Amino acid sequence: MTDAPSHLFYQSRNPRPFLDRGEGIYLFDETGKRYIDGSSGAMVSNIGHSNPRVLTAMKAQMDKATFGYRLHFRTEPAEALAARTAAMMPDGLDRVFFVSGGSEAVESAVKLARQYALTQGEPQRWKVISRFPSYHGCTLGALALTGYAPLADPFAPMLQEMPRIPAPTTYLDRDNLTEEQRGLKYAETLRDRILTEGPETVLAFIMEPVGGASTGALVAPDSYYGRIREICDTFGILLIYDEVMTGAGRTGRFLAAEHWGITPDIVALSKGFGAGYAPLGATVAGSRIVEPILDAGGFLHGFTYAGNPLACAAGLAVLDELETRGLIANAAAMGALLQARLTVLMERYPFIGDVRGKGLLLAFELVSDRETMAPLPKGLNAHSELVEIAYARGLILYSRRTRGGIEGDHFLVCPPLIVTSAQIDEIMEILTDSLDAFAA
Ligand code: PMP
Repeated sequence: MTDAPSHLFYQSRNPRPFLDRGEGIYLFDETGKRYIDGSSGAMVSNIGHSNPRVLTAMKAQMDKATFGYRLHFRTEPAEALAARTAAMMPDGLDRVFFVSGGSEAVESAVKLARQYALTQGEPQRWKVISRFPSYHGCTLGALALTGYAPLADPFAPMLQEMPRIPAPTTYLDRDNLTEEQRGLKYAETLRDRILTEGPETVLAFIMEPVGGASTGALVAPDSYYGRIREICDTFGILLIYDEVMTGAGRTGRFLAAEHWGITPDIVALSKGFGAGYAPLGATVAGSRIVEPILDAGGFLHGFTYAGNPLACAAGLAVLDELETRGLIANAAAMGALLQARLTVLMERYPFIGDVRGKGLLLAFELVSDRETMAPLPKGLNAHSELVEIAYARGLILYSRRTRGGIEGDHFLVCPPLIVTSAQIDEIMEILTDSLDAFAA
């Protein structure tokens, strides 16, 4: 099977083996080789593979109806999932718009914000400030917000240029500030940027509460989050949390926003929300934003597959699984354990410059000098080399060149939220072996 010519293409030609099956945190290829899904795919398979509750729910829904166009029918699974999702959100985030993925969730958030401004008689508000580095998706609209140069630059002429502020890469800072002061310093860059742009032109600010693909589990100092909320409120700017990667329990809370007691105006969810069982995402906002839009004639936006009952039945069973098995608390506990174990690796490998993250959204970064945090030389291709070494040993890691894709190598270690401490031992054993081989 593997040798047959492929008509399929993604980013590049795909040299990977054929996937045969999945079970819990493990995946098996066609030869029977076992892999630990150490990154939950792309931080997606939060409840592991082949979960019986989800499969049963999907089969039951399949026997009834797999698709009902949302303009023709309401469906039980979509209504129930919207209600459950709203119940898990901070107070006030009670309206749910379904989509099929993260980029769609982000674009829907931005268009919702824009239409809200129009209902408020503020057509001059259209700029969405985002951060650099960041990742918000790769459709043209989401890419305009994505601070990740290698993916965005080739399309620059086709993108509406949007203002950016620096993401708080405090682990690179060598100043005498306290963490709290650093958080406030970075937050002030938003205020400065709003003033430069003209506050009346700024519609929204979008951020990943814990960085994902572009920054490698970057967490800002605590002081950052509240100050950003205050600044948005001061200027009447909507705060959009892109929780596509962090949401649905990955950081040890349902939303990462909960760690700082923040209520964003709009939240984008996907990845762990469908957990790999269905292409599913959601844009969640308050009635305060949604009702005026519906009153003014409706949201001028929608995707054909949005809220299809099969995807929503899967999503409901995923939330059941998270709740009944206490998986969000497990993510917090196992995340703390895994983070501590990864931090110990720094004693053994001087080229690990930083270990960071929250819950089970964790990463380590390789550097050539821990004092200056200078990255490894680009030509070394450390990010792909270490990934291949680990892959050969049956551990899947997710890596990217970080710091906006310009330099640096980070590796996300993000197993499914069902991971046990014995399985963390397994991960650490293969990772240590892989790092030894990388260092050799
Ligand atoms: N936002 C964030 C924070 C993401 O991590 C991603 C995917 N890596 C997206 C948006 C885009 O999601 P999708 O690939 O499902 O379109």
